Amino acid sequence: MLYVDLELLNRSIRLEEISWTEIPYRRPRAAGKNARLDVHGRGGVFPAVQIRAGGVEGFGWCALTRPRAEALAGLPLSAMFRPNGMLRKKFRCLEFPLLDWLGQFFHKPVYELVTKKFSGPAAEFSVPVYDTTIYFDELHIKDDTEAVAFILDEVSQGMDRGFRDFKIKAGRCGMWMPLEAGLRRDVDIVNGIRRRIGPGAKLMVDVNNAYNLNITREFLSAVRDAELFWLEEPFHEDGVLYTHLKTWMKEQGMKTLIADGEGWASGALLDWAKQGFIDVIQYDLRSYGFFRWLELCAELEPCDILTAPHNYGGFYGNYAQAHFAAAAGNFALGEFDIAQAEGIDTPGYRIKDGRLEVPRTSGFGLCLDQGRFKALRDQKGYRISAG
Ligand SMILES: [Mg+2]
Repeated sequence: MLYVDLELLNRSIRLEEISWTEIPYRRPRAAGKNARLDVHGRGGVFPAVQIRAGGVEGFGWCALTRPRAEALAGLPLSAMFRPNGMLRKKFRCLEFPLLDWLGQFFHKPVYELVTKKFSGPAAEFSVPVYDTTIYFDELHIKDDTEAVAFILDEVSQGMDRGFRDFKIKAGRCGMWMPLEAGLRRDVDIVNGIRRRIGPGAKLMVDVNNAYNLNITREFLSAVRDAELFWLEEPFHEDGVLYTHLKTWMKEQGMKTLIADGEGWASGALLDWAKQGFIDVIQYDLRSYGFFRWLELCAELEPCDILTAPHNYGGFYGNYAQAHFAAAAGNFALGEFDIAQAEGIDTPGYRIKDGRLEVPRTSGFGLCLDQGRFKALRDQKGYRISAG
């Protein structure tokens, strides 16, 4: 729900203008392969919309087609929300720009719109985030010791940027390396990183479904001392295989959590989570949606299921997830794919001691260069004005 008085949105406040474009973003370092995809590279583009209503602007991630924008232009904002403040389903395509707009209109950060926990004059808010940028960047190196050293250097770069917790890719044996050599390298890298980051930091491993049950058991046995916080997508989710894995882990006294749910997740995923086979749900924040995720959190929290929305790629989610985390009582930690976006500044956001400090500026706190946005929009986007 939203903790603002939506009655203040009188019906004269209408969507006056909708502008859409794609914004380029760039990582400080190219990201390599994972277990199923080739090189991810230096960056890409993400879809974004700026709306204007009542003379106030709001901006955010948004994949909005032109016909849909034409249908929305001119509608009153007050009609888009339910009395409890939840955005009606048919307007959720515009949820990130609308949340930002509400923040600008009420002079509050989004995290103060979605929870009362952090409101007040001295509110300081930060969210635990992990460095998610450790890919298969060392496949060109034949020697395992040198390969581990190469990855450890990337981990050190992350630590220099303020991260403490890391998620790394594994599953080299699925496609890119021979079975035994690939698994051995996964294990050596995990154990090497644990030594580098120390015992207190959280270490997660994402296999992108490249193992099977037997390989997963071999892997978990070999990295037992690394005490992984979670293992993500060891194989494609399957209730029978996850039952076997969880039973075996319990017998072994392993406390590592199982995370799953990004991509084309099984429709039975939540049932398996409620049965205790999956501990962390990872639907993507942007495509699954901010309001839909809030509704899901209310369902997951009583079952002690953690939430950690998928957020890799696209810059925007790095920051939006912090505001979502404020309202998600069972938020585990945020996936941070560090990047810069063209024409967007992030003043006040800072990663320190493994946490993202969130500024108390209005909306999502992202500062848009209007000239640059307009240039990108005129180049490859569109602008719809209400008649
Ligand atoms: Mg993943």
